[in-house]
Amino acid sequence: MQTIDALQIMFLVMVLPCLVSCVQAKGNVYPLDSKYVKAEELNAELDKITQLNPELAEKRIIGFSSAENLPIYALQIGNKNASAAILVIGQHHGEEVIGVNVSLALAEKLLKNNPKEENQSYLLENYQVWIIPTLNPEGFRIVSSGMLRTKRKNNRDTNNNHKLDLRTDGVDLNRNYPMFWDMDPETEINSPYYKGSEPASESEIKAIIALAQQHNFALAIFLHSSISGVYSEKIYLPARGNGSELFQNTYILATIYAKEVKKDYLKGTYEVYEGPTSEVGNARNFFFYRMRTPAFLVEIGGNNKRGQSVIHPSNAMLEKIVNKNVKALLKVFEEMNKASKK
Ligand SMILES: [Zn+2]
Repeated sequence: MQTIDALQIMFLVMVLPCLVSCVQAKGNVYPLDSKYVKAEELNAELDKITQLNPELAEKRIIGFSSAENLPIYALQIGNKNASAAILVIGQHHGEEVIGVNVSLALAEKLLKNNPKEENQSYLLENYQVWIIPTLNPEGFRIVSSGMLRTKRKNNRDTNNNHKLDLRTDGVDLNRNYPMFWDMDPETEINSPYYKGSEPASESEIKAIIALAQQHNFALAIFLHSSISGVYSEKIYLPARGNGSELFQNTYILATIYAKEVKKDYLKGTYEVYEGPTSEVGNARNFFFYRMRTPAFLVEIGGNNKRGQSVIHPSNAMLEKIVNKNVKALLKVFEEMNKASKK
């Protein structure tokens, strides 16, 4: 009897934690693992990154969130007098936190000055790179603090009861842009995809529109990581793809990105989705049709071999995902450099 007890204790002490961590290693970890930047750390993190090269980087506040008036931070990197700009938004949806880490790592990479990287100095001479780690500081606060794993929208009090209903309140910021907004049927306020009371009703979206009008964006990339897994590891172009030159340029840049990134758990690389994409008021449709900016959305976060969608992987996998997506972003920028040198 005593031997069995000893064996049981051994199992509990040694084997069980290993089993748990092995399962976690390939699945979701929530509350988020330690390497995810949390909402309360973001400001200090941005200051730290800016300090890597204060001549080339400035922390900016482009606006404030709709319900809680939280600052929407941006990093402006590169030559401020450059006429062309590039935009990367790390997050629209609260639970899609990987893009926040990717965009911060991108900023760091651009600022760790390496004079031998000719492409990088050319890029920062000729473009202003605007990096917005999160456009949804309210959703980010809820998810990164461990309050709720699946919070997509901002915290607007959509049912007007003067309190925050975590699971139902809010507007889907990527349905609130003033392009194809009318075509989106989602008017149910409790839906996670609620498009808002009118186009650009949300101050987050007003802030982006103002930024888009102030700068000449030659490219806009939006990072997501959809919780359903249906869209994972694909790149989505503006709706109603057509033969225009602008669309072709967008397609070429998206393909460069896709080919660079191996899937997290399965064989092959990311793919550019070739079917029809949503005709709703989302960022890529707004930038493409209203601003004439090549624009696409990247769905990071893969399905594992058990068919489970992993959007909150543990530290080790997060690091791999961040690195390969930063590489892909730099590869796309390199292609833009080549095109602008011609
Ligand atoms: Zn999303």
